[in-house]
Amino acid sequence: MIAQLEVSNLVRQQRNFFSTGQTKDVSFRIEKLTLLKKTILENKEAILNALKSDLNKPRFESYVTELLVVKEIDYAIKHIKFWTKPKRVATPLEQFPSSALIYPEPRGIVLIVSPWNYPFNLMISPLIGALAAGNCAILKPSEIALHTSHLLADIFKKNFDTAYIAVVEGGIETSQQLLKEKFDRIFFTGSTAVGKIIMSAAAKHLTPVTLELGGKTPCIVDADVHIERAARRIAWGKFINAGQTCVAPDYLLVDKIIKKDFLDSIKKCIQEFYGDNPAKSPDYARIINKRHFNRLAAFLNDGKIIAGGQTDVENNYIAPTVIDNVSLNAPVMQEEIFGPILPVIEYNDLTEAISIVNERPKPLALYFFCKNKNHQERVLRETSSGGVCINDTVMHLGVPDLPFGGVGDSGMGSYHGKASFDIFSHQKSVLKNSFLMDIKLRYAPYEGKLNLIKRIFGI
Ligand code: NAD
Repeated sequence: MIAQLEVSNLVRQQRNFFSTGQTKDVSFRIEKLTLLKKTILENKEAILNALKSDLNKPRFESYVTELLVVKEIDYAIKHIKFWTKPKRVATPLEQFPSSALIYPEPRGIVLIVSPWNYPFNLMISPLIGALAAGNCAILKPSEIALHTSHLLADIFKKNFDTAYIAVVEGGIETSQQLLKEKFDRIFFTGSTAVGKIIMSAAAKHLTPVTLELGGKTPCIVDADVHIERAARRIAWGKFINAGQTCVAPDYLLVDKIIKKDFLDSIKKCIQEFYGDNPAKSPDYARIINKRHFNRLAAFLNDGKIIAGGQTDVENNYIAPTVIDNVSLNAPVMQEEIFGPILPVIEYNDLTEAISIVNERPKPLALYFFCKNKNHQERVLRETSSGGVCINDTVMHLGVPDLPFGGVGDSGMGSYHGKASFDIFSHQKSVLKNSFLMDIKLRYAPYEGKLNLIKRIFGI
């Protein structure tokens, strides 16, 4: 474990570097973002191997969901000059001849704490925003995805000065040591429970926090759908990375009219994706560790298994599983599942489905499958969630201009694309006056001036 003194020295070192002003230079930021991309591409194989060791992540999934984060670097480089430019806003007539502008400025030293499920992407993606916005960063990867954590530490040490970007490896204690220091923003991705700990530690320094948390993401399937396509998109979103995805459909609410056909279709998709025995499929990940394996295995008793259900404790394997006849009070419906188990609950009408969603904390995502535009608008109007995908799952994360984040228990603040730049910037409001004229109306003595003020402002 790193000593507190070492942590304090690291933060001091970064403060000294930040105060040189180098990171404020846009060309410095572009140079470092370019170096970040180059470093990632040079270490592609090592990254894929680390993900394989941590989660048995299929190479295809690692490419698409982790390595493709480099596209966010291209996006940031393409837009950074525009993002960093001061933006003029209108000034009221009485302020003539002043001009008003918003200057984005770096926050300073930021801490990024990440989870184990997409251990590479969820560290690099916020970092891109932090660097584009001109900050120094301390990164704390998850100790649970150990291979990726070691690799991140190694590649940053070799390619970046620790006074600019430093990786501090370790578990809860290390995280808590870091939290004792004062940062200018903390960006945390992880569970709701730990999010509360992060926020209360940050409050001691009045450090702003971004909390990217989890929760139970509902997936509602109306009767008016293309059954086969809906089933395929849901099975994909649920079982990619063996269900260990913050925006995976957590539970299924399905219109009872189509339930049987729909579940048959889901079973067919699982078979198509992973064959008769998913344990042998090269395209199916494993549960991260025994603790999570045991937690998930306990859910298998919470209803009638209609697909999957097989486990192999030696290999942290849980088959893609669908459970029918699940009670809303069952343990599997009380916490975020975060694994390859899909409980199914049938509903009679949309009102019932919406009220099941609204009885629970606001989720990170909500999926609604339905062709009817009025029903789509109704779900959008009557529910609240971090984001929504209509007739698909997970794909909203791939749109750079859609800010990604939670609401209520699923988090606060959002990122991706420009939102990443904004969250790591302070929007400094600047009013520029000139010496051209000086209307004396606002100065004392006030005698005789109030009536004029009343006339000007009309109140
Ligand atoms: P976690 O909250 O257990 O850990 C996340 C990070 O916090 C790790 O780096 C860990 O070392 C640190 N940490 C853990 N306990 C701590 C404590 N007491 N004090 C200080 N730091 C502590 O989360 P996890 O198990 O790694 O990840 C799973 C959770 O993350 C799920 O809830 C999932 O939905 C959520 N998640 C959210 C997103 C998102 O973008 N919103 C993405 C991925 C995962």
